[in-house]
Amino acid sequence: MVKKTGNIVDRGYASQIASLHAALGIAEDYHQVMGLPLQPEPPQLADAGPDMFGRPQQMTPATLAAWQSMRDRAAADGITLLLVSAYRGASYQADVIKRKLDSGRSLADILRVNAAPGYSEHHTGRALDIATRDCSPLETGFDQTEAFAWLVKNADKFGFVLSYPEESASAISYEPWHWCFREP
Ligand SMILES: [Zn+2]
Repeated sequence: MVKKTGNIVDRGYASQIASLHAALGIAEDYHQVMGLPLQPEPPQLADAGPDMFGRPQQMTPATLAAWQSMRDRAAADGITLLLVSAYRGASYQADVIKRKLDSGRSLADILRVNAAPGYSEHHTGRALDIATRDCSPLETGFDQTEAFAWLVKNADKFGFVLSYPEESASAISYEPWHWCFREP
């Protein structure tokens, strides 16, 4: 785990990202074309236990506290919120893209659904992909579930915001499952 000195995008991180991009053949003007900010990694991560697939997950301590409160409140309302994924580092993101390139997909295709390393909100340890029962994870059909309706009504009380809504200005497409904790 690379530890960062606060939420400051230092030159070391920016140059690490630049070399990951060079290795993958990502254009130097990617962030300008996509209109995406560089996403710093957090100074501290807390263990959040296993996700819905049994994989260990991490997030910032404040995100974890907010997620646990929100999940418990939803459960009290009869709504099941499941964690799909939380923190992912820039080098992990590079590995995901590399695997897809190796399987023959084009870079342009991959970058339509995966942010380039350094530009995923998951690097911050504050973004969560959330699922529920009876709906495949990471499908836009999640927005037809009771869980999504509950989140739309209640998530902001816990500090969570839908990052990529349907009418998004971002180049990232609609992701009803992706919620980010905004530090107050
Ligand atoms: Zn996500």
